[in-house]
Amino acid sequence: MATIDGLPKLSDVIAAHGLDAKKSLGQNFLFDLNLTQKIARTAGKLDDLTVFEVGPGPGGLTRAILSLNAKKVIAVERDERCLPALAEISAHYPGKLEVISGDALKTDFASLAPNDGPVAIIANLPYNVGTQLLLNWLLPPVWPPFWQSLTLMFQKEVGERITAGPDDDHYGRLAVLAGWRTKAHMEFDVPPQAFSPPPKVTSTVVHLTPRENPIDCDAKKLGRVTEAAFGQRRKMLRQSLKSLGGEALLLQAGIDPQRRAETLSVEEFCRLANLV
Ligand code: SAM
Repeated sequence: MATIDGLPKLSDVIAAHGLDAKKSLGQNFLFDLNLTQKIARTAGKLDDLTVFEVGPGPGGLTRAILSLNAKKVIAVERDERCLPALAEISAHYPGKLEVISGDALKTDFASLAPNDGPVAIIANLPYNVGTQLLLNWLLPPVWPPFWQSLTLMFQKEVGERITAGPDDDHYGRLAVLAGWRTKAHMEFDVPPQAFSPPPKVTSTVVHLTPRENPIDCDAKKLGRVTEAAFGQRRKMLRQSLKSLGGEALLLQAGIDPQRRAETLSVEEFCRLANLV
């Protein structure tokens, strides 16, 4: 049967190249072009954008991004078995898809970013490395970053931990770090049966855009304060932050030492980080 983009059906691509999903690589593939286009559209109009994709796999989301006229896609894939399938997509969209064979955790995305236009990152992330990749993109030494938006698929529980606010059960280190430098929203959920093989839990697409002027604060210090505070989230801050200055530090920051980590705003965490 013909497909919208004229390339073979993804199930045929997977069969032809023997791409049985590997759990160790977080491989849960998307087949439905309507869904992959919906994910890609979350990044906005793609015509002027260079898109970085992590883990193109057999290329379902890659094909959606290219079908929506992205200027260029640079995709980093760790599983060499996927390279022939991706080469077929490259041939179908000459000059538009560059595939880098390697580990995204070891890839210096900033140095690969072109300097002739905006960059977006769009990915159905492998769940085992998704949070670490997000932190790498959120915490570079200089800001604003090389990307203008991140559109990323996570397990829903991780999406909640990225987008939560104070007094929410999911509020923690990840939400403070994401909220400090970005505006982050959960856009829509994707049920397990949309993937092959289906994961155990619901997934969600998170969209993040950089804040132009995040509160001036050192990322490493903010990391240390949030790690200590949420490491003992049920304890009062004067106890959980003892090693960083405890009650004296909190009073200096104008924060009641009896409060708990989950009640503090991002701004209050930054105030503490600036005093340690
Ligand atoms: N983009 C495809 C899709 O939506 O159908 C596949 C997504 S699948 C959830 C995750 C992909 O990331 C797999 O293709 C896997 O091989 C790849 N991957 C896993 N770990 C990786 C890493 N460290 N660096 C680059 N790619 C990785």
